[in-house]
Amino acid sequence: MSERSRSVLWLRKDLRLRDHPALIAAAEAATEVVVLHVLDPADLATYGESRRAYLAASLRALDAQLGGRLVVRSGHPEEVVPAVVREAGAGSVHVSADTTPAGRARDERIAAALPVPLVTTGSPYAVGPGRVLTGGGTPYQVFTPFLRAWAEHGWAPPAPEVEPRWAELTSETLPAGTSTVPLPEAGELAALERWEEFRTAALADYPVDRDRPDRPGTSFLSIALACGEIHPRTLLADLADAPPEAAASFRAELAWREFHADVLWHRPDALTDPLRAEYARMEHDEPGTAFDAWCEGRTGFPLVDAGMRQLLATGWMHNRVRMVTASFLVKDLHVHWTHGARFFLDHLLDADLAQNQLNWQWVAGCGADASPWFRIFNPTAQQRRFDPQDHYVRRWVPELGSADYPDPIVDHAAERREALARRERMRP
Ligand code: FAD
Repeated sequence: MSERSRSVLWLRKDLRLRDHPALIAAAEAATEVVVLHVLDPADLATYGESRRAYLAASLRALDAQLGGRLVVRSGHPEEVVPAVVREAGAGSVHVSADTTPAGRARDERIAAALPVPLVTTGSPYAVGPGRVLTGGGTPYQVFTPFLRAWAEHGWAPPAPEVEPRWAELTSETLPAGTSTVPLPEAGELAALERWEEFRTAALADYPVDRDRPDRPGTSFLSIALACGEIHPRTLLADLADAPPEAAASFRAELAWREFHADVLWHRPDALTDPLRAEYARMEHDEPGTAFDAWCEGRTGFPLVDAGMRQLLATGWMHNRVRMVTASFLVKDLHVHWTHGARFFLDHLLDADLAQNQLNWQWVAGCGADASPWFRIFNPTAQQRRFDPQDHYVRRWVPELGSADYPDPIVDHAAERREALARRERMRP
């Protein structure tokens, strides 16, 4: 190694400094590390305004950790990354894998165009997508056997901390962004603090409370995981100290995240096309006034409306309610899941292509699921079961029970029959 050599650490969905194998690789490759983030217009267009504002806040938090040495540049990575390599005189570029279809294609193009190696170390997952295969070497189609095989495969312990010398290079002014919702505190340190709070206050009750939108029973870490402010390996390692049932329950939810990334790895078309091909023949209704009522939380079904209003007001929605609102759109209003998925991507702070599109497919019944179309959530029964005192719905729908609250826009029993009839007509 020459006296002063440089590597570039190009951060994408891994905006943190701890438990970061690509950072370790960058530090081992040179005496100084340039930390780069590219504001890529194509990538930014995937998400809504508030998510972009959260990303800006996360970059500011990272810059503070780096003592102001984060290098931010706008433009197409195909042009920006080689330019920064030349400017810095760097000998290698280091990344964590981006396993989305667009990310894989972009990284292949950049690796071919760069004058220095593009070194990929680690991914946003405990087990890299594509690694867990059946005995026959094929991907898993269903979650439960995947979970078993994923746990057997195992994962590395958190990567050790390193403190490289950060290189100085001019940066654009960090982005600001405007959010339509109050943003939670962004950055790695806030994520670690949130995890610590959840571990001590709520993890033991997670197996029951995770399904209760009226309680603060979940970790609220999805936004940090989507931006890579914390790595699932860190969380999995800490679960060793948790009560076994709670640890297993939380581990299984993290495994859903890994499963969806794995499915997308094998089926890049799943972002838009049904995993079960026959569902391409399903009859759908065009989004109209009923879709508008769903978007605005005015369907007359309190749990659906509460969920949509929580999303609009906070940029987050409880998982149980995401399932109910999504099921309502697809099975009660007969609107194609991609319309709902687009609306969620535009409004969720944790918007993540793999998680969003594949959860939508799962709810719509055309995804990776053992008992697909017949699961039609009854929004009223779900409310009774998971929000028994109406605390959640009253928080978001305060006019409930007054003349201001709309009547139900559809008859659930009739639309359920209609959904099942459409499914019958779809069969060959
Ligand atoms: P916790 O209950 O604390 O779970 C811990 C972590 O496990 C989460 O942060 C998340 O990373 C993972 N997880 C939990 N449930 C799921 C699940 N069903 N699928 C995949 N991972 C899961 N999650 C996103 O991160 N981004 C999305 O864009 C997204 N869109 C969704 C769309 C629909 C229609 C549905 C039904 C679910 C969606 N989810 C999405 C999954 C889930 O709702 C959120 O991850 C969860 O509500 C986040 O809250 P939390 O961090 O408090 O979860």
